[in-house]
Amino acid sequence: MSTKATMEKIVSLSKRRGFIFQSSEIYGGLKASYDYGPLGVELKKNIKETWWRDMVHSREDIVGLDCSILMHSDVWKASGHLAGFSDPLVDCKNCKERFRADKAPLAEAGSEIKYREGGKSDGKKLTGTVDERGYVCPVCACPDLSAERQFNLMFRTSLGPVDPLQEIANAAEELAALDPKGRMQKLSEIMKPSAVYLRPETAQGMFVNFKNILDSSRVKPPFGIAQVGKSYRNEITTSNLTFRTCEFEQMEMEFFVKPGSDEEWYTYWRDARLEWYINLGIKPENLRLREHEVSELAHYAKACSDIEYFFPFETQNGVGEWGELEGIANRTDYDLKKHTEYSGKDLSYFNSETKERYVPYVIEPAAGADRAALAFLCDAYDEETVVSPKGKEETRTVLRFDPKIAPIKAAVFPLVKRDGMPEVAHKIVQDLQKAGINSFYDQSGAVGRRYRRMDEAGTPFCITVDSETLENETITIRDRDTMAQERISVNGLVSELIKRIRDE
Ligand code: ATP
Repeated sequence: MSTKATMEKIVSLSKRRGFIFQSSEIYGGLKASYDYGPLGVELKKNIKETWWRDMVHSREDIVGLDCSILMHSDVWKASGHLAGFSDPLVDCKNCKERFRADKAPLAEAGSEIKYREGGKSDGKKLTGTVDERGYVCPVCACPDLSAERQFNLMFRTSLGPVDPLQEIANAAEELAALDPKGRMQKLSEIMKPSAVYLRPETAQGMFVNFKNILDSSRVKPPFGIAQVGKSYRNEITTSNLTFRTCEFEQMEMEFFVKPGSDEEWYTYWRDARLEWYINLGIKPENLRLREHEVSELAHYAKACSDIEYFFPFETQNGVGEWGELEGIANRTDYDLKKHTEYSGKDLSYFNSETKERYVPYVIEPAAGADRAALAFLCDAYDEETVVSPKGKEETRTVLRFDPKIAPIKAAVFPLVKRDGMPEVAHKIVQDLQKAGINSFYDQSGAVGRRYRRMDEAGTPFCITVDSETLENETITIRDRDTMAQERISVNGLVSELIKRIRDE
């Protein structure tokens, strides 16, 4: 995180410059739903494309997949999501906050805690005792909490010509005559035949297609299947812009290995994935690997680490909080075995050379594209004091994105709006676009202002067409970070930019 970034500044810049907007804003917005504007969509697309290039195209052992969001309901039974994909949910009796018990601040059982009535800063001072659950309300620190309740995180919808609501209306009399338990049973019978769920993760698509890919793609363990796509979770607590939303995009890869080699591959992927963020420009001091304690591991996982980023979130202790960007897990043979059990299809691998048959172990690096985009945005944010050409001190806001993920790579300015300069500048923009370098033409205002606008958008290179361009076909290229300008020939511009973007 840049020491200068705060969530308030990130939210305001996102809206002002078109990175992230509140969804359906003109109707008052929809809770925890966001839209990516012209700059945001490019940023997220560049992150996903870089992930795909590094995980799929630059390797011989990983293939891609794109599954449908709606899958057979038995997939979720086998994966455990339908029965157990739930978070323990708790209500604070003092400030009425609803939160996840496993995310609440811990406090020693039996200790006395002071809090304010209603969670208000001028509320009466109260004291309470932490019960044996050992946590307090994340908002007001009150230990007086409701019992934990389970809550299904999957969004349910219905598929097919029968509307379950109509069926419920038809059965109204029968339902009214039943006791509450019988009524729930009947309702579940009505809903079940048409019920389908929006996937809460992309991973299951890779497991259920394991055999299809083995049979069609000439791959053999160790090999991986990668997918980028939307996932949906009816999250109870959503906060901090796009960090936790109900609709989000994942970049997941399942790497199938021979049992026995799983620990080695787990270490390999854990380290490789951390390096990926550093190579794309995140400051190493803002990243950490957090190995899960055995008590934290999912029952099927042999090991798991989170790659965490120090986000500029507001907390009770000031600005800054570690948040998960990506989880790397050794999922053992749990998923393939479960799907074998539920589908009745053999999902083992037979090595025809060694005549060995085994169910592969799976190492899963699971990342979120939205969280990554937010982390890259926060980390790139910087403010510095510069002296304007008129000798005045001013603040320059600059997003120091790695050129590979910068939304716009180059901006092209005619120094003045006449003498044929706009035409030359437009031609340069077209040539850059044709070469796949996303560029932007801007002729309004003083050049200094135009530079500042592009700094704030994170554009690494600004190209100016001036009177010398008309004489000798050279332009100036200005570097966003150093602000240094260099004069180069128009003919060499495309290759020079490609070199600088690729960091060659
Ligand atoms: P958390 O503990 O924060 O809820 P998780 O451990 O449940 O996350 P995974 O199931 O491992 O998350 O999903 C892999 C990645 O998908 C996460 O590291 C994160 O980047 C992203 N992700 C998960 N849930 C959300 C969400 N609600 N909003 C945005 N991104 C998410």
